[in-house]
Amino acid sequence: PALEKVTIIGSGNWGSAIAKIIGSNTARHSEQFESTVRQWVFEEQVDGQNLTDIINTQHENVKYLKGVALPHNVVAIPDVIKACEGASLVVFVVPHQFIHGICEKMKGHLAPNARAISLIKGLEITSEGTRLFSEEISRILDIPCAALSGANIANEVALEKFCESTIGCQSMEDGLVFKNLFDTPYFRIAVIEDHVGVQLCGALKNVVAVGAGFSDGLGYGSNTKAAIIRLGLMEMRKFGQTFFGDSVKTETFFESCGAADLITTCNGGRNRKVAEAFVLTGKPIAQLETELLNGQKLQGTLTAQEVNEFLVARKMTQEFPLFNTVYRIVYEGVSPEMITVDI
Ligand code: NAD
Ligand code: 13P
Repeated sequence: PALEKVTIIGSGNWGSAIAKIIGSNTARHSEQFESTVRQWVFEEQVDGQNLTDIINTQHENVKYLKGVALPHNVVAIPDVIKACEGASLVVFVVPHQFIHGICEKMKGHLAPNARAISLIKGLEITSEGTRLFSEEISRILDIPCAALSGANIANEVALEKFCESTIGCQSMEDGLVFKNLFDTPYFRIAVIEDHVGVQLCGALKNVVAVGAGFSDGLGYGSNTKAAIIRLGLMEMRKFGQTFFGDSVKTETFFESCGAADLITTCNGGRNRKVAEAFVLTGKPIAQLETELLNGQKLQGTLTAQEVNEFLVARKMTQEFPLFNTVYRIVYEGVSPEMITVDI
């Protein structure tokens, strides 16, 4: 069979860490993948130079993953069509607010047998309904799409510290192809069929992490944070059962994408960090995102807003008190202390 041609769409903090893994695996599994990996990079200037030129000459994404060498077979390309033309495996790893415009440009440019995988942690939620990003990508590009999510703080993965991750894929055959693309001794992949649960966990845990950050900012300690994590996990499961029914499996919450990701994000993630600073400084979230993250993007506050809109439309905000309280603290000026009162 023809070798798989891999394209990565995205080059932020996680996009860069995953490019390191994918580049080394395509070279390692030369019987299955073409070695060259094209990476679409949202072009920007860094110290007067194109970021793509820096990546292609220094083999480092100096803005989003400083100090980590990228494999030389990863090639940065600023034009999304050139990056994806003829690709048979497409890895989506962009902050969730940007996915639509990018997919629209890619239409009609992939290989006929193309399959995708979404590493995006977020949900397409509006008052009309929820859609998973795998579904959104499938709908726009007319290709199957799996999902990968886990307890994977990018900077730690990039330093090859052991962790696990979960691939949710309706086709086990495709799931195993993706496993070969991602699995390494320090990044251990489990493949399950519940692609819905994998993505729900990845999106909703970011809202809980904002709550954990408020607790840290208030100086509440480990017991309080553990309570927020537990209550958050229960709301995540309830959200899945209520709106996605039996398609979300309880066992999925015990995979890396479930409780493990919730724990790591509530301890070492960006959502936690910015929420803590929100309490300590009183500055608006958007300002803190700019000041603290150097171009990286928060997902949890946006997801809290999207989830709220969805629940308001169904008159169900009271049934998800933690999600609701996080929303009200960020967007309605409610005191952060309410994080332990209203949940
Ligand atoms: P990031 O937070 O580093 O975001 C910055 C990226 O967004 C850069 O590549 C930037 O070029 C791009 N960008 C900025 N403006 C843009 C625009 N207008 N259009 C398109 N792209 C634009 O990104 P990330 O950390 O790679 O996160 C991508 C996804 O992966 C998110 O859903 C995130 O939740 C998830 N994720 C992140 C981590 C992590 O530790 N960073 C781990 C697992 C999953
Ligand atoms: P943050 O976006 O909060 O940094 O979370 C990263 C993550 O998803 C770890 O698995």
